[in-house]
Amino acid sequence: MIIIMLGAQGTGKGTIAGLISKETNWPQISTGDIFRKNISEKTKLGIEANQYMEKGELVPDEITVPMVIERLNQEDAQQGAILDGFPRNYAQAQKLDEILAKAGKKVDLVINLSTPKEELIERMLTRRVCTNQDCKATYNIKLQPPKKEGICDKCGATLKQREDDSNAEAIHRRLEIYEQQTSPLVKYYEEKGVLRTQTVSTTINRMGKDVAQDIIKDIKNK
Ligand code: AMP
Repeated sequence: MIIIMLGAQGTGKGTIAGLISKETNWPQISTGDIFRKNISEKTKLGIEANQYMEKGELVPDEITVPMVIERLNQEDAQQGAILDGFPRNYAQAQKLDEILAKAGKKVDLVINLSTPKEELIERMLTRRVCTNQDCKATYNIKLQPPKKEGICDKCGATLKQREDDSNAEAIHRRLEIYEQQTSPLVKYYEEKGVLRTQTVSTTINRMGKDVAQDIIKDIKNK
């Protein structure tokens, strides 16, 4: 089963994708995480991607699409995968359909997360991530703090704020790009009949883990 996590930055795509992945054993394929790992390892891909990421811009499709194709071709993704952060524009969505069709597959479910804008900005500012790239656990110092301040509960490494979360301009740019380039995909997938929209917000007391629980239940009942 191919699942896509859609939604603006800070809606909790990664958290939900991680929980679904744990239950299903399908890998969570996060383009942002792959880029960040490459940046920390100072690979050619990382150095190139960082120029765009630090400004909150999208990494060009010529770099992003082949990277996703390669990841989807790996053995562990043959039964299913949860794409977290891809596609982010129309061209990527079309390319993905093409690649999947060649393999006799398709996008089965698109989880579209919706959160009020003020809450998104607050969530990005209060998000902290584990510096251990093999762990990558995510916390929120207000909503989901670690047991010990600044330390990852899972692996004990230090936590830090993402570069692009600490820069007001990058936050603003990412939300703008989401509106302009990514949000049209809601209609694209709605027309294909695979869209499932979920609100994640403290105002209705519905958080990512609640959404994940419902989706996991449905996947298991299929
Ligand atoms: P994320 O961790 O999903 O918030 O992504 C962090 C950054 O990585 C984004 O702001 C982009 O610069 C880059 N990125 C992640 N996924 C993509 C994608 N599908 N296409 C282009 N750039 C991406």
